[in-house]
Amino acid sequence: MVRPSDIDELGEGMLDLDWRRHRRTSEPGRARAVFLDRDGTLSEDVGYACEVAQYRLFPWTVPALRALRQAGYRVIVLTNQSGVARGYFPETMVQEVHRRFERELREHGAQWDAIYYCPHHPEGIVPAYRRMCACRKPATGLVERAAREFALDLPRCVFIGDKYTDIMLAHRVGARGVLVLTGHGREEWARSRKEGWRPPDHVAGNLWEAVQWVLSHEGGAECDATP
Ligand SMILES: [Mg+2]
Ligand SMILES: [Zn+2]
Repeated sequence: MVRPSDIDELGEGMLDLDWRRHRRTSEPGRARAVFLDRDGTLSEDVGYACEVAQYRLFPWTVPALRALRQAGYRVIVLTNQSGVARGYFPETMVQEVHRRFERELREHGAQWDAIYYCPHHPEGIVPAYRRMCACRKPATGLVERAAREFALDLPRCVFIGDKYTDIMLAHRVGARGVLVLTGHGREEWARSRKEGWRPPDHVAGNLWEAVQWVLSHEGGAECDATP
């Protein structure tokens, strides 16, 4: 188990070992990424809050992102922001929240590589955003775009989120999905077991624990859904 204070020691050696292990099965030159959900995963789920100051990163988000980037992963955030289509807040506020998060991460030596959001909803009240789109999770539009822009090897990617849509999306694109028990995670996990849905590849208490699992199960073959 790696603690936040140990992260700086996860260095080049680990990266080299990992490349040797994966060379045979991976497409040369293609990168791996961890796709992260935003609300309830990176930050507290504050509903459709319309004050930027209400949005807060979890305290473990900075060390988790640093650990992923130091291990050689791209960090890509995917978020459904249907509050725009529903008329709860303007798209500019979504962008403002992202700038605030980016600033806070940078101040602590962490960052994501990209963030993609979907502002649509089929039943929205704002005409410009009311539509069935290809980018609202679990649709694969944003993942396909990220895979193109970052030349990603999707079978080596992992998705981490607090909703079942994040897990479904992971499995649709042939990646692994880790459910976190923050945000809506507990109710989503209970519901998925009741409904008999395909289990996540792992269930973690929070993003930090999810990242520890990713870093210790880089092969991709194992399945461990015990919380
Ligand atoms: Mg979420
Ligand atoms: Zn969309």
